[in-house]
Amino acid sequence: MISVIGAGPSGNYLAYLLAKKNEDVHVYEDHKEIGVPIQCTGIITPELETIIPIKKSFLTNKINQAKIYSPNGNSLHVKFAKEDVIVNRTKFDSHLGEMAKKAGATYHLGKRFQDNKGKKMKIGEEFIETDILVGADGPFSRVAKSNDMWCDRKFVTGNQVTVEVDCDPKLVEFWLGIGLFGWLVPESDSVARVGIVSYDQPDKYLQKLVDRRCPKAKTISKEPGAIPIYNPKQTLQKDFVYLIGDAATQVKATSYGGIVHGMRAAEVLVRDMKHYQKNCRKEVGRDLYLSLLIRKAMDRFSQEEYNDLVEMFNQEKLKRVLETKSRDYPTKFVLDLLLAQPRLLKFGTKVLF
Ligand SMILES: Cc1cc2nc3c(=O)[nH]c(=O)nc-3n(C[C@H](O)[C@H](O)[C@H](O)COP(=O)(O)OP(=O)(O)OC[C@H]3O[C@@H](n4cnc5c(N)ncnc54)[C@H](O)[C@@H]3O)c2cc1C
Repeated sequence: MISVIGAGPSGNYLAYLLAKKNEDVHVYEDHKEIGVPIQCTGIITPELETIIPIKKSFLTNKINQAKIYSPNGNSLHVKFAKEDVIVNRTKFDSHLGEMAKKAGATYHLGKRFQDNKGKKMKIGEEFIETDILVGADGPFSRVAKSNDMWCDRKFVTGNQVTVEVDCDPKLVEFWLGIGLFGWLVPESDSVARVGIVSYDQPDKYLQKLVDRRCPKAKTISKEPGAIPIYNPKQTLQKDFVYLIGDAATQVKATSYGGIVHGMRAAEVLVRDMKHYQKNCRKEVGRDLYLSLLIRKAMDRFSQEEYNDLVEMFNQEKLKRVLETKSRDYPTKFVLDLLLAQPRLLKFGTKVLF
């Protein structure tokens, strides 16, 4: 028996892949309903389509343009060759859960993993034996804590509100220099998800973005949450215990998106459990590590340097890379950018100094 703790995108997709291989899979989810509460913007690159077919049932919107604002108010307008998708996380997670159930996985909702002593897990007040235990239980993974796999993890806060606001339904806005960055992701021409990521004072930075972009907007809902910072030394595998997704800090530090990489990690785990840690560090970890280095460099940018960056990216040859190359794989993306404009290296030196 394989026990998967957590019915988020990583856990559900893993359960689906394992059930397809006729494994006896049991998913334990703390909440009574999958995908609730929402703590996510739900913007996913076209890469998703290489993992699962995109269905209308979970799709909220598709966007094909981005406007990136620098602190001085200048902007960069990019038109994507392929559309990003905006999903409703409750419906997206539920869809993946249905896929797993249809493939034969058994779901136990409203069942919280407490801890485990060897292969005996405490789920709620029950004790259950398992052969394999997978922690897909998000940033504060109890599976990681219970098995001495917590490692040195750190977090940022994603602070988001869904608001009524006039906006272009095909255009996502990014705001540099507010917290780590801010965004406005449209659901339609009158509703958008507006948020920031920051190390501290998330309410202050969200208010700053709201004041600047949509001061009179009516708030419909709030979706804040913690996001783990990728730790390249994170233990991913120990005896019969494995970690994937946010539980394994598999989040891209440039955008703080974790859906695609968590699902990729699930594929790596199912392909070869024994060598999961080694394979995952190589296949998923390299891009996450480079994203982390880029983030560390960007953390040192002054407001003026953000202004310079946006100005430089307004060059056609750089815009073309942004418009056509996958942002999920910076190992390729960064090289294309540097080939298009070697002067970008001046920003790269921020990693070192
Ligand atoms: C404000 C915000 C915006 C974001 N925007 C994006 C975005 O636009 N695109 C993107 O790709 N990523 C985004 N992210 C990150 C994204 O939400 C995560 O990377 C993604 O949800 C990780 O999926 P997961 O399945 O690994 O973990 P989760 O989605 O966290 O799922 C973990 C599941 O485990 C359950 N669980 C936890 N503990 C237990 C327990 N003890 N027992 C049983 N069940 C348990 C939880 O209830 C949950 O259902 C955002 C995050 C935040 C906070």
